[in-house]
Amino acid sequence: NERLTLQSEKLKLAGEIAAGVTHEIRNPMTVISGFVQMMNEDPQSPYHTYTNIIQSEIERIDLIISEFLVLSKPLAEQKNRLNLSEIIQDIILFFEFQLEQRQIQLIQQLSEETLFIYGNTNQIKQVFINIVKNAIEAIDQNGTITLISCHDHHFAYIEIADTGEGIPNHLIDYVFEPFYTTKTTGTGLGMMISNKIICEHGGTIHLHSEEHVGTAITLKIPLHHLKKDA
Ligand code: ADP
Ligand code: MG
Repeated sequence: NERLTLQSEKLKLAGEIAAGVTHEIRNPMTVISGFVQMMNEDPQSPYHTYTNIIQSEIERIDLIISEFLVLSKPLAEQKNRLNLSEIIQDIILFFEFQLEQRQIQLIQQLSEETLFIYGNTNQIKQVFINIVKNAIEAIDQNGTITLISCHDHHFAYIEIADTGEGIPNHLIDYVFEPFYTTKTTGTGLGMMISNKIICEHGGTIHLHSEEHVGTAITLKIPLHHLKKDA
C-alpha cells in the first residue's frame, strides 16, 4: 500500500525533526522574543505595528514547536502504568471553564471501573487535549460534547463526539495529514500527532464524521493488566 508507506515515512520524518530541532529553535526564539517585547514596550518606538506582528508570529512558531515537542524521543520513551480514568478526569477539569464559557454541554458516560494503560502521561494527555480542542472549535454555539469510556478484555475504548460542523466526506482523508488545517490559526498538527502517539501505544484512532451533524473520534488503547501472582 503505497499511500500508507508514504504516510508512515512522513510520520517517521516528523518524529526525527521533532527530536533533533525543536529544542535548538527554542533558544534563539526566546532571545528574539525578549528583544521584540522590549521594543514593543518602548512608548517612543515608531515600529509598534511591526513588532506586534513579529510577536504574534513568534507565538505561532512557539505553538508549532510545542506541538512537535511531545513527539521527541527521550520523552516518548518514558512509559508507566497509567490510570486512564484519572487522566480523563484531569482533562475534564482542564476544559471545564472553557466549555462553560462557550455554553457547550458535556455529557459523560464513563466506565465505572478504573482503566489502566501502559504509556506516557504527557503524550496521552496531549492526545485528549488535541481532540477535545478540535471538538470545541468545531462547535459554533450551544453544542454538545459526549465523552464515553468502556473496555473489553484487552482494550480501553474512549469516544469523544461533538455536535459540531463535521467534516465533508471528500476531506476526511486529509485530517491526519501533517499541516492540513481549515482554521486561520490552526497548525494542522494535532491529529497527525495524536495518531502517531496512539499508534506508539499499540492503539488505533477511528474517525467518523458527517458534515453539519458532527464528529466522533474513537480511541482504542491496550489495557495494562497486573499479573495476579506478581
Ligand atoms: P488544527 O486543529 O490545527 O487545524 P488538527 O490536526 O487538529 O489541526 O485538525 C486538522 C483539521 O481536521 C482541522 O483543521 C479540521 O478541519 C478537521 N477536524 C479535526 N477535528 C475535527 C472535528 N472534531 N470537527 C470538525 N473538523 C475537525
Ligand atoms: Mg487541532
